[in-house]
Amino acid sequence: MTYTVTLLPGDGIGKEVMTSAVQVMHAAAKKVKVTIQVVEKLIGGASIDQFGVPLTEDTLETCRRSDAVLLGAVGGPKWEKLEHQRKPEAGLLKIRKALELFANLRPAQIYPGFLQASSIKEEILDGTDFIVVRELTGGLYFGEPRGYDQDKGWNTMIYTRPEVERIARMAFQMARQRKHKLISVDKANVLECSQFWRSVVEEVHQDFPDVELKHLYVDNAAMQIVRDPRQFDIILTSNLFGDILSDIAGIITGSLGMLPSASLGIKYALFEPVHGSAPDISGQNIANPIAMISSVGMMYNYAWKLPQVAELIESAIRRTLAAGYRTKDIYTTGDTLVSTTKMTEIILKNMEQS
Ligand code: NAD
Repeated sequence: MTYTVTLLPGDGIGKEVMTSAVQVMHAAAKKVKVTIQVVEKLIGGASIDQFGVPLTEDTLETCRRSDAVLLGAVGGPKWEKLEHQRKPEAGLLKIRKALELFANLRPAQIYPGFLQASSIKEEILDGTDFIVVRELTGGLYFGEPRGYDQDKGWNTMIYTRPEVERIARMAFQMARQRKHKLISVDKANVLECSQFWRSVVEEVHQDFPDVELKHLYVDNAAMQIVRDPRQFDIILTSNLFGDILSDIAGIITGSLGMLPSASLGIKYALFEPVHGSAPDISGQNIANPIAMISSVGMMYNYAWKLPQVAELIESAIRRTLAAGYRTKDIYTTGDTLVSTTKMTEIILKNMEQS
């Protein structure tokens, strides 16, 4: 089997952690006898410097011709003063929209040795393992009309039937591959848009009778994630609510340098760490590569349906952390402090040995 991957390292530590990710991607491919061809393109500030725009048509076309896209991170002080449309971050929004990546997946899981580091009590957190499935290309963030004048500001929360159906269907399918439990989060007690969301989710549920469906209001869901995170398996929610809940979910279980994500559509898929380009530590070989490496695991799982490869990568990360290796962002006294390249080397060695 041969796959093509477009690499978009971007800016700052994006480039550093991408180097780690590519090594892990190829090492995993070798293990399962898959061939991966890569094409590297520019995005963000790097693209602005060369082409004057954060994302070119050529880069987009290359992504469209690939089986998956791996993205590092974009942005930095050098481009901060540019007008909104020309900023590196505009390239991110454009690529998500152009590739119709309507589902954003963020796992919340606990790595060994991280129970004590969380702001949540160990006995409440232990065993937490769920995924937030957030609708990414609709809802309040894209609804029209929108705007502001001197006296008021306004946005529109709107969802169409196909938009809710496709994300719900994807979430139910994922629930089928896990614990057959799905919680849909809305604000149906106040918002008509949420009432509609709820009714469409219930319709889609009829095709998945083997999956248990519950509904939670978003305020309650935020509280429950902190109170009893183990009750969740798949959380399905809209763009605005997902933005907030996925940050809560991510940070109760780990550090920014360890959170991967997947953005999926019908035809295309993009994988990237949750963190940004971290200009404060860029170029020092101290960035944590785990979020990016774990995003490679998600690529094998969701783009190519090779969950055994994702597990190979995740188990190598778990063993590396269990042995006490830490980059600076997650280091505490008694751990072994390692650089980006050393952390990658140890993860690769652990993959080799499984
Ligand atoms: P950031 O995620 O880059 O950094 C926040 C803090 O976390 C920093 O102290 C940084 O050193 C640390 N950090 C982040 N990732 C780390 C890692 N892998 N290892 C160790 N430490 C890590 O967020 P920010 O500082 O708010 O933004 C910096 C730039 O990145 C801005 O231009 C912003 O717009 C951009 N950004 C891009 C993305 C993206 O590309 N998806 C996401 C968020 C921010």
